[in-house]
Amino acid sequence: MEYEAVIGLETHVQLKTKSKMWCGCANEFGAAPNSNVCPVCLGLPGVLPVANEAGLRQTALAGLLLNCEVSRYAKFDRKNYFYPDAPKNYQITQFDKPSTQRGFVDFEFQGGMARVCITRAHLEEDVGKNIHFDRQSGVDFNRAGVPLLEIVSEPDITSPDMAYEYLNALKDILVYGGISDCDMEKGMVRCDVNVSVRPKGAKEMGAKIEIKNMNSFSGARRALEYEIPRQIEAVKKGEKLRQETRRWDDAAGITEVMRTKEQAHDYRYFPEPDLMPFTPDDAWIAAVQKCVVELPLARKQRFMRDYQLPAPDAQTFVWDVPLGGYFETVVKGAKNPKGAANWVINNLRAKLTETQTTLADLKFKPEALNELVGLVDSGKISSKIAQEVFTEMFASGDAPAAIVEKKGLAQVSDTGAIEKFCDEAIAANPKSAADFKAGNANALNFLKGQVMKASKGKANPALVGEILERKIKA
Ligand code: ADP
Ligand code: MG
Ligand code: ZN
Repeated sequence: MEYEAVIGLETHVQLKTKSKMWCGCANEFGAAPNSNVCPVCLGLPGVLPVANEAGLRQTALAGLLLNCEVSRYAKFDRKNYFYPDAPKNYQITQFDKPSTQRGFVDFEFQGGMARVCITRAHLEEDVGKNIHFDRQSGVDFNRAGVPLLEIVSEPDITSPDMAYEYLNALKDILVYGGISDCDMEKGMVRCDVNVSVRPKGAKEMGAKIEIKNMNSFSGARRALEYEIPRQIEAVKKGEKLRQETRRWDDAAGITEVMRTKEQAHDYRYFPEPDLMPFTPDDAWIAAVQKCVVELPLARKQRFMRDYQLPAPDAQTFVWDVPLGGYFETVVKGAKNPKGAANWVINNLRAKLTETQTTLADLKFKPEALNELVGLVDSGKISSKIAQEVFTEMFASGDAPAAIVEKKGLAQVSDTGAIEKFCDEAIAANPKSAADFKAGNANALNFLKGQVMKASKGKANPALVGEILERKIKA
């Protein structure tokens, strides 16, 4: 019998706010241990949390970007458990009334499109961090109380690769929306991977195995690549899988049992008595709506459709938003958008890196790039000369046509001048001419090169080829 995998992900993302969720401490990575703490985030008795509006706003915005409904009535709940990095002995989260739910993420996958539905995205708080030394352990509470968005997917994912692409798409969206920096190195994204197997085509899902706390997307993919065959093999042997939580051992490349269902936590959720339910009005939601940005995939598709760019070019403008914005200014007056894109991606980008400058420092006007493309397209200058003109216009800000004029770089299409260079090249290289005449096509390229050199790159290459051929074959 054939089996298939069923996968659902719970992704935790740290929100990009200035301060923590319930107090004014800085939400900042890398500070000295326990320097960004106060009685509220240390969970001292008698203190009261105050919700950070930026956290609420970003949660709602994330919901909109994930095509979710934003709730008019969200509330907070206490999830009770004891763990040394959770000083209050409970975590504030949203249990039955999350800020946002029922959405989806569309992304490119295996040459087509895939969709993963989002069950909910709710707001909670991060915990501190345990650090283990040789002989003791310490807790750093700087992270305690940092706003955390938990995005729960439907079990729509069918393979490790699809899980990986979904996570990347999710990350791109959240970075685009300014919701999180999603810096994996800084632990800003972690996910729990839920996976089961079932006979192919079966309706009912198998027992859910949860692999906790993956801190890289490739780790999540590898864990699934291990876990799915493990489950299939077990089922084929007649074992009955039971719901359990496992841990991924990255070094060994295996998962191992952490706890079974019988040992599962009972979190005793109850409404957080110190926070009012959150009931945003129309004006508040409309203000969040204004922050909705074009999603990365929509941007890519738009660049491909409106400017007829190939996918890799469009993707470059998705990853480099300012460069894409600049290209859009250029393309407004472009006859040849692809030509303009080539200059922006290949030449301009390299020049900016080389000179450590930014688009704001550019001396030439955006129209100048179109002018340059036009000069090449009309045969006025060769693409090789165009490089020289570009370097000059980047340095001085002068218009390309003016540079061509000033430096006498215009391509020579004057047949008389080219004929003379051709005669000289044939006279100086009689063997090449004879070879070409005898059928060796490469010999012509050599002669062509000689003529181009003699003309300092200014001869029209197509014309040079024609003239040489005519002269030799005559
Ligand atoms: P819990 O209440 O234990 O957190 P949920 O039903 O809320 O479980 O689901 C948590 C995550 O697990 C979701 O992403 C969901 O899509 C996924 N999931 C649920 N059941 C299964 C299953 N049988 N196989 C794989 N994933 C599942
Ligand atoms: Mg869960
Ligand atoms: Zn604090």
